[in-house]
Amino acid sequence: MPELPEVETTRRGIEPHVLGRRIDRLLVHDRRLRWPVDLTLIAAVAGSSIRRAGRRAKYLLLETEAGTLILHLGMSGSLRILPTSTPRVAHDHVDIELDSGQTLRFNDPRRFGSLLFTTADPSLHPLLKGLAPEPLEDDFNGEYLWKITRRRAVAIKQLVMNSRLVVGVGNIYASEALFRARVRPRRPARSLTRVECAKLARAIKATLAMAVKVGGTTLRDYVGADGNPGYFRQRLYVYERDGSPCRVCGKPIKHFTQGGRSTYWCSNCQK
Ligand SMILES: [Zn+2]
Repeated sequence: MPELPEVETTRRGIEPHVLGRRIDRLLVHDRRLRWPVDLTLIAAVAGSSIRRAGRRAKYLLLETEAGTLILHLGMSGSLRILPTSTPRVAHDHVDIELDSGQTLRFNDPRRFGSLLFTTADPSLHPLLKGLAPEPLEDDFNGEYLWKITRRRAVAIKQLVMNSRLVVGVGNIYASEALFRARVRPRRPARSLTRVECAKLARAIKATLAMAVKVGGTTLRDYVGADGNPGYFRQRLYVYERDGSPCRVCGKPIKHFTQGGRSTYWCSNCQK
């Protein structure tokens, strides 16, 4: 599933191809995404230029003169820049044809992705309004984590994966960040000290930033025919490494299920 770093990598990959380009035509081949695509957006954006390719949490925001397209990749979605004449393959649901002769093509086998449109400020859209601070920006920090953990007994891993409190930290990055901060995933959130909150905030930023950086090396994939983002698994400390030696202490990485999701950790390094 694309997580925040993959979405940011996608944003960076498409940005140079879409910025300043006019949308000649938007085609919806199959509107049955997570929410049925509102077909009135086709006429609404036709002929308008793309002013900004932004991101909020895992939503890509294509700001045009007419309004903002809000795109979510869901569980299996990907975007590619292709020559407009490229034949469609299975699960290509949307084409945003640009005046450059290229198309921004949305493919999503499982159709949990979405395409929405708003003429208002996108930050006021119901999907974006209640979102927590962006983890890579300054208002997400140790003090913020300290504040939101004080009254919460929920396990810290589940807290950092709660998008109402921390956006964009999915299962892989939650496990990785907790390892980097040396905090056990099952600790009650409120048991973290101020120092641990600061370490965890830094670890979340570092984990995501590294993933974005490494994702940057696969940018070519987004403009070619192969849209696979690649999850740079060789750099992971704990995720899906159960039984393998911890990269820091050598003890076997452990695994358990928490809130329906797999959690990986080192019982020696994490306190
Ligand atoms: Zn270890």
